[in-house]
Amino acid sequence: MITGKTKLLGVIGYPVEHSLSPVMHNAAIAHLGLDYVYVPFPIEPQNLEVAIQGFATIGVVGFNITIPHKKSILSLLSEILPIAKAVGAVNTVSRQDNKWIGTNTDIEGFLAPLRTTYNQDWSQTTAVILGNGGAARAVVAGCAELGCDKIFVVGRNAQKLEEFRKSWDNSQQLQNLHVHTWDFLPNLIPQANLLVNTTPIGMYPKLEESPLSVEEMANLPAVAIAYDLIYTPNPTKFLKQAQQVGVIVIDGLEMLVQQGAAALKIWSQQDTVPVDVMRQALRQHLGLNQ
Ligand code: NAP
Repeated sequence: MITGKTKLLGVIGYPVEHSLSPVMHNAAIAHLGLDYVYVPFPIEPQNLEVAIQGFATIGVVGFNITIPHKKSILSLLSEILPIAKAVGAVNTVSRQDNKWIGTNTDIEGFLAPLRTTYNQDWSQTTAVILGNGGAARAVVAGCAELGCDKIFVVGRNAQKLEEFRKSWDNSQQLQNLHVHTWDFLPNLIPQANLLVNTTPIGMYPKLEESPLSVEEMANLPAVAIAYDLIYTPNPTKFLKQAQQVGVIVIDGLEMLVQQGAAALKIWSQQDTVPVDVMRQALRQHLGLNQ
């Protein structure tokens, strides 16, 4: 029950109506019996600064950030933890000692299903990442943390790709990062042990599209993982093709759950949060079988 003491959490974005975060966070909050509520806040880009000031005034305890604010929020924070600095994007903010502290839990979210289900030595792995947007930055950082041998990022805009590559110039861990335009992708597929789709191709309204053809997918190494960050539809066409050619598939739902769980741990200052409850709430909401 919401009372005068209930603390506010939420997600800011524009648009934000589609966000599934309220579903999983409010399920976990109810399960833990915490006096919090998690609300979606649609904030247009030009209103971001005044919204964050308002959040401080009304005592918001923490919030997530989604498109288009993940980068623009940086200049409005008192402190940015090193992991978020490295990625250049913040997805989780908490209020501590009257300061806004930003971090990034997308990397932890991306890595969780790779580490738990397919724990292995990654030092011989070639990662091929499709897309060079915000989520690709967390994936690149995650692949570096795994210790992948080579990391290739494939995009459609040569200038953006070059800026993307340059932004990691100071990272010792990312000397093995290469960028290519889409026409080079067929050369990379045969060595892609880990192929990650970070583009929205396959999401509504492009449900029948995939970033590559099934013939291209068939050229993956015999032991490979195809990972789609998209969580709805589930599976995407990309993952159906991957299943068809017999490689391991991972969808974006677990990343969503795990980045949320990591954020809730920060806000609630608890070491454990009910990840199963969060996952189940999402699956039920999406009409997926347990
Ligand atoms: P973003 O910053 O807008 O980046 C999207 C990237 O995809 C950009 O590099 C863009 O290219 C590229 N792209 C878009 N349409 C394309 C097309 N038709 N052909 C080729 N490339 C295309 O978005 P984001 O935040 O990275 O999110 C990307 C996807 O990841 C979304 O589907 C999102 O739902 C998903 N995601 C999932 C999770 C999770 O927890 N599972 C977390 C974050 C994101 P340009 O740069 O050239 O425009």
